[in-house]
Amino acid sequence: MASSAPNSSTSHTTALEPTSPVQFLPGCGPARAEMLAKLGVTTVRDLVFLFPRSYHDLTAVSAIDLLEEGQPTSIVGVVDEVELQSRGTGRSVLGVLIRQGSLFLRALWFNQPFLADKFRVGQRVLVSGKPKYFGNRWQMTHPAVKNLEEAELPSGGLLPVYPLTAGLRQGHLRKLVRAALDVCAGRIDDVLPPSLRQPYDLAEIGWAIEHIHFPRAMADVERARHRFVYQELLVMQLALAVRRAEAVEACDAIPLPASAKIDSRIRRLFPFELTAGQNKVLAEIMADLARPQPTNRLLQGDVGSGKTVVAVYAMLVAVAHGAQAALMAPTELVVQQHARTLERLLAGSLVRVGVLTGAVTGGERQRLLADVAAGEVQILLGTQALVEAEVKFQRLALVVIDEQHKFGVRERAAFRQSGHPHCLVMTATPIPRTVALSLYGDLDVSTLDERPPGRQNVHTYLPPESDWPRWWEFYRKKLREGRQGFVVTPVVEGDDGSLASLEQSFEALANGELEAFRLGLVHGRLSSSKKEAALEAFHSGQTQVLVATSVVEVGIDVPNATLMTIQGADRFGLAQLHQLRGRISRGIYPGYCCLLAGAVSPATTRRLSALVESNDGFWLAETDFLLRGPGELVGDRQHGLPALRVADLARDREILETARADAQTLLEADPGLGAPEYQLLRRMVLARYGRSLSLGDVG
Ligand code: ADP
Ligand code: MG
Repeated sequence: MASSAPNSSTSHTTALEPTSPVQFLPGCGPARAEMLAKLGVTTVRDLVFLFPRSYHDLTAVSAIDLLEEGQPTSIVGVVDEVELQSRGTGRSVLGVLIRQGSLFLRALWFNQPFLADKFRVGQRVLVSGKPKYFGNRWQMTHPAVKNLEEAELPSGGLLPVYPLTAGLRQGHLRKLVRAALDVCAGRIDDVLPPSLRQPYDLAEIGWAIEHIHFPRAMADVERARHRFVYQELLVMQLALAVRRAEAVEACDAIPLPASAKIDSRIRRLFPFELTAGQNKVLAEIMADLARPQPTNRLLQGDVGSGKTVVAVYAMLVAVAHGAQAALMAPTELVVQQHARTLERLLAGSLVRVGVLTGAVTGGERQRLLADVAAGEVQILLGTQALVEAEVKFQRLALVVIDEQHKFGVRERAAFRQSGHPHCLVMTATPIPRTVALSLYGDLDVSTLDERPPGRQNVHTYLPPESDWPRWWEFYRKKLREGRQGFVVTPVVEGDDGSLASLEQSFEALANGELEAFRLGLVHGRLSSSKKEAALEAFHSGQTQVLVATSVVEVGIDVPNATLMTIQGADRFGLAQLHQLRGRISRGIYPGYCCLLAGAVSPATTRRLSALVESNDGFWLAETDFLLRGPGELVGDRQHGLPALRVADLARDREILETARADAQTLLEADPGLGAPEYQLLRRMVLARYGRSLSLGDVG
């Protein structure tokens, strides 16, 4: 430990502790401390944990006599001469001569005279650009330039590049980090005890923080990063495993064994045999439900794979046991769709189904709530309105949440207030395994990977604009043959002025491509009775075409609808487009989906082409995930967990699997993480996840 020596000239640095305000680091001061605060850095220790976002590799730097015409290259040299020539109104040429030993390169900027102030003769710089040999000399026009202060050149030639905020320069930050590392050397305790590091030969904390900032080679960065990624994912998986363990410990769920008699009574209601895939996931689900520990299971399956039927089966088992079941869906449209399905299946049975949405108000709502509380309504369907405090069940045994990706951890937690019902969550946006493990690490996963027999793939097209009229011709021909179709427009629900643009599209279609046909319109802002009417009209065939926003993304099941035009397709994510076209592969006729995207970038065209190539929702979800990150699938807001800082779920999937397994093993051996060697780890789990997972205490 540093001794305090208040009167010595070096007292300032020697008295610094990792917990000291960063402002007292030599070279920092209050102004820079304020800028650092914007990066979340307030203490010296925080600065050590502000990791570089990339590295500048000076070892890839060339000698000037090895340059090749037109090949992008970086060179390091010293500024020899700065010359600014004005050429009349607003026009200028800035020439900076850079010397490397006895060799020279000229960097040129046109009409950017202010750049001249950035250069000082004698200063070391790194310039990157495309060299050109001109008039006996190499030159680069408008190259990128970095100032390299002599002192900050690390031995390995790898320069850390930090996230910046206005006013802070890389050079400053590097010096401050260096000073912070010196203060913290040997004073940061390792959260990972040797017993956890050794099996994977993970770097110890002191080595890791030094080398993540100032590596000798990229291999050092990898080794340091690996350690931090593992730590971050282990902490997260521990938190999720603790929550899962808590749920399992609670033994007050109602056991719902499905006897042979119950099973055959339920199967008789379905107009078809369940597929092998449905039977497989049902066996998994029913094994869970038979126990008094609350089930927490995610059922994932591609669009149209028949998840609803599985959920209905499980809910009817609850009813058979004299208990209640609830099903929550993301939109009123989907709720209505489920209500219609249940009504059909349960016609002639005594099961009472209630529907609760924001649109059910007044006396009607009071009566419904009273009947739910009295146990007279056995199955309650609804939107998020279901988790409102006034909804009281008499004997809630099972909660099904449809389209989990639209909801979060919080909704699931809300149902726990009605005791510990079994919980089955479903998603038709297949979740890449990595995301499932990290976000839903407390859930068991069942996968429905087979479609009902006779279901067709959707033919998907991405025609050039000149071929759009031919598509519409085909669309009209199919309508005349008796099929129905959707036209989806990329209106952001809730956007002001969005309705106007939706209505415009509608008018344009009604007076143009689809003039001769009966069109309906549906979007999120319609009152629920109007939505229901629009859907009903489409179901019954009264309207032939439903013009819609992406509200039709989930749940709508009209087997005769086989056509879909998606306007502005480039404005949707892959997973969402796949959901949308899932609306038209629901019957015996093949579906046809056309993606209309005007002038878009080659990257967008490539992305959209993935849909033309594949009908496999899992593959598409992985692709979407790799291209756009998990945000598209599950925003931070929705899953309610703190964002990851170091780990990258797309890249670090193997480490995630390892961390998950280790978290389980660890908690099996030491459920409260009580051993002294785990105390720091335990504290970190609580500090980071205690609140969002509502963990009282790990012990
Ligand atoms: P998901 O919710 O997974 O998208 P659904 O449960 O809505 O899929 O099922 C899609 C369609 O397939 C529905 O029309 C449903 O009636 C039908 N279906 C479900 N299971 C079967 C089956 N085993 N055999 C035939 N059709 C089925
Ligand atoms: Mg569904």
